Amino acid sequence: MSSPNPVFIPGPTNIPERLRRAVDVPTHDHRASDFPAFLAALLEGLKAVFQTTRGEIVVFPSSGTGGWEAAVTNTLSPGDRVLAARHGMFSHRWIDLCRRHRLDVQVIEAPWGESVPLDAYAEALAADREHRIKAVLVTHNETATGVRSDVAAVRRTLDDAGHPALLFVDGVSSIGAMDFRMDDWGVDLAVTGSQKGLMLPTGLAIVGVSTKARAAMETAGCPRCYFDMRDMLGTTAGGGYPYTPPVPLLYGLREAVAMLEEEGLDAVFARHRRIAEGVRRAVAAWGLPLCARRPEIGSDSVTAIMVPEGHDADALVRHAYDRYGVSFGGGLGDVAGTLFRIGHLGQMTDVMALSGLATAEMAMADLGYPVTLGSGVAAAQAWYRETAAEAATAP
Ligand code: PLP
Repeated sequence: MSSPNPVFIPGPTNIPERLRRAVDVPTHDHRASDFPAFLAALLEGLKAVFQTTRGEIVVFPSSGTGGWEAAVTNTLSPGDRVLAARHGMFSHRWIDLCRRHRLDVQVIEAPWGESVPLDAYAEALAADREHRIKAVLVTHNETATGVRSDVAAVRRTLDDAGHPALLFVDGVSSIGAMDFRMDDWGVDLAVTGSQKGLMLPTGLAIVGVSTKARAAMETAGCPRCYFDMRDMLGTTAGGGYPYTPPVPLLYGLREAVAMLEEEGLDAVFARHRRIAEGVRRAVAAWGLPLCARRPEIGSDSVTAIMVPEGHDADALVRHAYDRYGVSFGGGLGDVAGTLFRIGHLGQMTDVMALSGLATAEMAMADLGYPVTLGSGVAAAQAWYRETAAEAATAP
């Protein structure tokens, strides 16, 4: 069933009409003489979204997970050690992917609802005098728990330890929605997908690559073929792809970058922050706790809300969809059934967010939650009214 209502899942996000039109193009031959210039301009535009001038961008036909696989296999060898925290379903799945590639993953367990544990990272890096750790993994925005981690602080931790490991960042649900600075934060590999902050259908993995990561490709021993970045990097003059790229999606991506550019990245981040704050205020008015354990680590792209004891969050998500045609995110992995998630990234306005909050309230009221109808909506309305004047709320 497809519903005319907006979705409130943290990706795929709502596709703006402008992007739906942008992907509706006649066939453009990817071997034609004008394709390299088209691709080169697109990759330049993406650099701005990743906030990099020194890095390069590779776009694969894939979902975000393929971007992870590309990052790992292009720069590491079986047996290499990587340092990772497990604090949600996506950091967990990244660890699993590394293990399947026979990497030696040093896992730091952290509570689901916490951010990347900086002290534990610092300790592990300081203890690694032989520099056996080749890469440090950070999930910038743990979509499963609605938690943001401090990538800049992880960079500082590496620098303070004088450790040469590569810094990998999963920016799948942050890039294009929350401030992400590839160059300033010294990120070596950054991954996102087309279906989140970039507001497109799923189908593209976009990877930012530093010069250090590029150098690591020469010695990396993990097998790779389809995701071999060396076939792509620096080859736009020859067409850029050793296989057939989804050109219509690339057209969409060009338009998505233009939309972000027109709004201005800072304005995009501010809009997400402001909308997220309205959602958090609504949740506080409902009297429900966030999964994020501290206010300062709350994500600006998704809010994960703990449901009261005795309630099944999955049933709530099902009910909202079946009765009202509105999708929210459920709990994943360890937190399944205990929380639901309101995604508010990509094309999102105050008005859209309010409709999601109103629907969540109706669904909760239907299922006997101790939540007063209108309470969350009123709290969010107050915040949006208070801050609307100084915000550019146009989508
Ligand atoms: N990482 C994060 C933080 C995510 O939110 C997701 C998907 O939701 C992924 C990785 C996996 O991306 P994909 O589903 O596009 O393969």
